[in-house]
Amino acid sequence: MAGQSRCGNDCDIAVIGGGVVGLSVAYGLASRGLAVTLLDEGDVAYRASRGNFALVWVQGKGIDLPDYARWTMGSAAAWKNFAETLRRDSGIDLALEQRGGLMACLSERELEDRTAQMSRLHNAAPDCANVETLDHRQIKELLPEIGPDVVGGTFCRHDGHVNALRLFGALHEACLRRGIAYRPNAPVEALVQMANGFRIATPSGEIRARRLVLAAGLGNAKLAPLVGLAAPVRPQRGQVMVTEKLAPFLKFPLGTIRQTDEGGVMLGDSKEEVGFDTGSSHQVLGTIAAHAVKVFPLLAGAQIVRSWGALRVMSPDGYPIYDRSVSCPGAYLVTCHSGVTLAAAHASTIAEAIATDIWPDAIAAFSARRFGDVPAAA
Ligand SMILES: Cc1cc2nc3c(=O)[nH]c(=O)nc-3n(C[C@H](O)[C@H](O)[C@H](O)COP(=O)(O)OP(=O)(O)OC[C@H]3O[C@@H](n4cnc5c(N)ncnc54)[C@H](O)[C@@H]3O)c2cc1C
Repeated sequence: MAGQSRCGNDCDIAVIGGGVVGLSVAYGLASRGLAVTLLDEGDVAYRASRGNFALVWVQGKGIDLPDYARWTMGSAAAWKNFAETLRRDSGIDLALEQRGGLMACLSERELEDRTAQMSRLHNAAPDCANVETLDHRQIKELLPEIGPDVVGGTFCRHDGHVNALRLFGALHEACLRRGIAYRPNAPVEALVQMANGFRIATPSGEIRARRLVLAAGLGNAKLAPLVGLAAPVRPQRGQVMVTEKLAPFLKFPLGTIRQTDEGGVMLGDSKEEVGFDTGSSHQVLGTIAAHAVKVFPLLAGAQIVRSWGALRVMSPDGYPIYDRSVSCPGAYLVTCHSGVTLAAAHASTIAEAIATDIWPDAIAAFSARRFGDVPAAA
């Protein structure tokens, strides 16, 4: 560990949750000079950050909420600098590629629907991502291995991908080097507000923090009401598989197929409402594989080396929740799906909002108040 931990049981700010969201916020707070303690439940916890698809993805985001289209676009645009700063702070290259991304369509009807959706989004947020519709011939010029069943698709040049495990490792290393006190195996069991901060109870002892950030993914649902907040998040399973390493053939990702910097091809991902079940099934994996082979017939001969199921952290409308508590000042909530795409925004705008306690207009739309009957938040 290159840096010295500047706090432990008594700190400026405690971040609860060591997934990609908590790490990004903690990194941003420590970069602003705050003494941060990061508490994480540990390997037994549900962890979306370890099972995701690693896209930095813009196209199609915010169909019903233009503020989210802008928020996503801002984070994607900040990713290059974020990756470079993180590389300097951690010594780890994230293998970020932002040369565009494609959603492939297998029928004229699908292509028409997708194009209509993208123009609806463009009309609602014209300052955001420009998405082009490509026909089969245009895609073939870009991706010669595309299959004959792909009639066309939508392409956005702001889309990209990273190596998600390296992102996780780099954030962790950079946090340590910035002096964050990291407490693994520290599930938070209780939160109590005092005159000058919070008492945070874990099985291995108590932490005192002047302020706290709830970034515990699905764990936020239980923790938020303890400090006058609401996190109505539910698990949504996605299944993913990865092939053996193949010679490079995919120079940019598709929404459900991407070739990693190491050569393996990741295929995913389903959207299943199965509660807290992280299993995988032959039926779903078979459907994902059959679709991938239609898009890229060369995948028919590839060996699958690993598959898994992981749980997304979904709010009722799928958009993030960013809040600060009125009844317990100093308590904040940060939770979302798309924590990879939004990592750059979490380490900058969200960390700045929490550090200064000034909530910018850009995140006003993401309060849990939009869901109605939840505790009031500022
Ligand atoms: C299949 C799949 C594909 C995805 N693809 C993408 C993608 O392509 N691009 C993208 O941007 N996003 C993607 N995501 C979403 C992304 O992975 C998540 O947004 C992100 O991982 C959420 O991070 P998190 O830190 O909020 O939650 P998690 O990773 O779940 O971490 C929560 C952490 O909180 C800790 N915790 C929980 N309760 C407590 C407690 N009481 N006390 C202390 N600690 C606690 C846990 O130990 C855990 O480490 C995908 C997700 C899935 C599942």
